[in-house]
Amino acid sequence: MKILLANPRGFCAGVNMAIECLDECIKAFGPDIFVYHEIVHNRYVVDRFTQQGVTFVDDIESVPRGAILLYSAHGVSPEIRDKARQRDLRTIDATCPLVTKVHLEAVKYAKAQYNIILIGHEGHDEVIGTMGEAPESITLIETPEEVQELPFTDEDKIVYLTQTTLSVEEAGVVIQALKEKFPSIESPPKEDICYATTNRQHAVRQLVEQVDLVIVLGSQNSSNSRRLMEIGLAEGTAAHLIDGKAELRAEWFEGVETVLITAGASAPEVVVQDCLNYLVDNYGAEVEEITTREESVTFQLPKELRTLQSMT
Ligand code: SF4
Repeated sequence: MKILLANPRGFCAGVNMAIECLDECIKAFGPDIFVYHEIVHNRYVVDRFTQQGVTFVDDIESVPRGAILLYSAHGVSPEIRDKARQRDLRTIDATCPLVTKVHLEAVKYAKAQYNIILIGHEGHDEVIGTMGEAPESITLIETPEEVQELPFTDEDKIVYLTQTTLSVEEAGVVIQALKEKFPSIESPPKEDICYATTNRQHAVRQLVEQVDLVIVLGSQNSSNSRRLMEIGLAEGTAAHLIDGKAELRAEWFEGVETVLITAGASAPEVVVQDCLNYLVDNYGAEVEEITTREESVTFQLPKELRTLQSMT
């Protein structure tokens, strides 16, 4: 059996920054730290921090007054920031700068009296945070069918924004429907779907025709990981999204000659290597890494972290 190992895969700059930020917090202040929502959507990562003593919360009221609270890579709404201030929490913002960019666009267009169409998945942490920036001005849609139900005319000021981790192709279909219905609709100044999402999807699209099976390392609640699996399925190739090697099933490999392995932006390399080692040991698999795009993006740790560190 042959394995094509996609590159780029796994951690993006935003996830790296958020995880390093939490590691640095633990070093500086000990593990008695709270994180609003999962730091990133990956079970392995969340379990590691939970075992170290970090507490993940879904409501600010459960955080003790004065405690240290990190905002996850997916960002939060102004309402959450207000609640944290009211509880005198010492907050550190590990929101990915590319998510913050979408928040700032929402604020800017709302101030300029635009109707903002946000393309994204209802209930996703990032979408909740972005909508919270301008709830009166934002309408969330997910499909081209929903475009037809929008209550605007082409005379209205309209702009569209997108969640950062959408399928490039599926978002493109919704954007096309928007442009057909509202020819004057404005686009975000720079693409909202982030470089990491785009590059990981591009790698799968480039390689999927050569394989019989796609394995994506990532958690079920990771939006960008799910999109990678869906690209395989859309091409008629069997595809599975798994957290780690324990979920591999022998029947998936029956009659399979070539497997594509990739990982979502929140999945650590250790789970990829565990899978590879398992497949090499049990199937004598040969691994070939194929680079479809180079990445060199990095993000700085949040300034609040340095401020708090200097006060200890
Ligand atoms: S997937 Fe993109 S937007 Fe999300 S954390 Fe990574 S770089 Fe940032």
